[in-house]
Amino acid sequence: MKNRATGLGVGLRPHMKTAKCLEVGKIASMEDFGPVTVSTLAETAYFAAAGCKDITLAVGITPHKLAPLADLQRRYSVEINLLCDNLEVARAVGNAAQALRTAFSIFIEIDCGGGRGGLDAKSSQLVALAQMIGNSDALSLAGVLTHAGQSYRVGTFADIVLVAEAERSAATTAAERLRDAGIAVPIVSVGSTPTTLAAQSLAGVDEIRPGVYMFFDLDQFCLGVCDLEDIAMTVLATVIGHNPRSKRLLLDAGSLALSKDQSAGNRCEGFGYGLVFSIDGERRIEGAIVDDVHQEHGFVAGPGNFDDLTAAFPIGSRVRILPNHACMTAAPYDRYHIVRTDDQRVIDIWSKVRGW
Ligand code: PLP
Repeated sequence: MKNRATGLGVGLRPHMKTAKCLEVGKIASMEDFGPVTVSTLAETAYFAAAGCKDITLAVGITPHKLAPLADLQRRYSVEINLLCDNLEVARAVGNAAQALRTAFSIFIEIDCGGGRGGLDAKSSQLVALAQMIGNSDALSLAGVLTHAGQSYRVGTFADIVLVAEAERSAATTAAERLRDAGIAVPIVSVGSTPTTLAAQSLAGVDEIRPGVYMFFDLDQFCLGVCDLEDIAMTVLATVIGHNPRSKRLLLDAGSLALSKDQSAGNRCEGFGYGLVFSIDGERRIEGAIVDDVHQEHGFVAGPGNFDDLTAAFPIGSRVRILPNHACMTAAPYDRYHIVRTDDQRVIDIWSKVRGW
């Protein structure tokens, strides 16, 4: 991704909300530990404490979160960039920052079609919001930021190419409008994993913020942006039973271990709550999936004979489950076991942050 960013002439501000892990962040920024994106206060504190000096908290800010952020800025000499799309919130954030005797740089969030947060690039409030930020003693304008969440709702890679252009166009249109009004826009920031991999041009953009590419998952595979072999994160589980009545294997991994996300099923058929591989990464039974989950139980079904399934996965054997959505699956865990591909040995354990 770093090479891709360089090729497209933009910087990389990797989103750490998927991995939430320092070691993965270092790989993503190729050890130079540059700017990162995060989505929670807990991630902000974790990366600030680790020495990251430029952090964008890319979820709309509200004033009550400023005190802990101000404390982090002071303690670690880190610059924390916040996100806002609303005049009244910006005013309240400016007042709160002033009361805390600190300053924040603010990205104006632009909605490029995802329909979550953000102003339309052509909104009449855009210039007024930038002026209010510029006029505040405690705020400065970091730039404009958008995320094409709709890249997950389209059908083909060709559609993602179009969404990538819509993302670029919304951000650069907003930036041009502000510059035409005489307002400096230091950074134009875009990005999701699908759009950064599909973009044909990022003219006018300064940085990209993909995150899930660090692991990839079945949803990305079904979107056509990675191969199954590219998926780096699996959940290790144990076969704890064979149920001849339901013709299912029972696993000790259910909805808490895997998440209930079935996003890949929107485009590909038959992945259920995850694809089941043997511990050595072999696909013993083509089409073996976790087809149902309870809190701490998973149910594995195979396409063929139940005897073949039980022979491939005896009680007590371990399996690896490829997740639908790596962000959701990784979130509750407090560490990763780093496994060497050749011999499946655990060669390291990396801690991570979780919670909010
Ligand atoms: N930027 C923002 C604001 C996001 O919300 C996200 C993901 O939700 C990303 C970047 C990263 O996108 P992806 O998960 O596709 O890598």
